Amino acid sequence: MYRQRVSPKASRPTGGSRGIRLLLALVMIGISLFSFYSSKEVNTVTGEEQYITINKEQEIAIGLQSAPELAQQFGGLYPDQELQDYIDDIGYHLVENSFANNGNYPFEFHLLDDDQTINAFALPGGQVFMTTALYDRLETEDQVAGVIAHEIMHVIGRHGAQRIAKQELSQGLTGAVVMASYDPNNPNSQTSAQVALMIANLVNMKYGREDEIESDVLGVCILYQAGYDPSEMIGVMEILDEASSGGRPPEFFSSHPSPDNRIGNIENALQNLDDCP
Ligand SMILES: [Zn+2]
Repeated sequence: MYRQRVSPKASRPTGGSRGIRLLLALVMIGISLFSFYSSKEVNTVTGEEQYITINKEQEIAIGLQSAPELAQQFGGLYPDQELQDYIDDIGYHLVENSFANNGNYPFEFHLLDDDQTINAFALPGGQVFMTTALYDRLETEDQVAGVIAHEIMHVIGRHGAQRIAKQELSQGLTGAVVMASYDPNNPNSQTSAQVALMIANLVNMKYGREDEIESDVLGVCILYQAGYDPSEMIGVMEILDEASSGGRPPEFFSSHPSPDNRIGNIENALQNLDDCP
């Protein structure tokens, strides 16, 4: 009888259901943390310990699925088959003549018809891209190979899969927060925004500083083993550095270490080519 008279409170969550949601949130946090930290494995090519929650087949499928959207964002594929074949030839030569071949990824190399954005990309599983804005600035085939070798290393290093695992962890934790603050009158408001964010994150994925350094350093090894001049990786950095002094800094540097730091690491790698995998 008493409860019926305080009707304004009836639509609010009761103490009991709030307790259950908090418990569910804690369980979700536990599951996210457990699945992340139990996913530790050693990269078979680089020997690096990493957290990976998806397998190689999934990496390849996700990369292929996201490739058209990424290409579309940067002008689509450059409509010159001869030049596309040239980029392919350099890419396959690098993979087939270096330790990168041990990764067994089905690589594809693409030139994007964007003469404004100076950038190159690698999606998980072997989809590699370079914009014409970057390609046009490179002066030698060794430098083109340098950029491609760097991107190949993002694939071999499974940097994309690592990002996805971290994203899943943070999304699991966000999911737990959503659950605790879940509004029964407006059930989809936060979840749909989260799903949209996850797709955007994948296509605009930025690798971390450590990933970039590993790709520079082991990219030098790929160049060297495939018979290109590995010191041209420094030339690539200098060209990117020069481009960043103009009005529009290359997006290549948006979340990257500064070129000076990178050149130091590359010089070090050039002196230690015997350490290559
Ligand atoms: Zn990179």
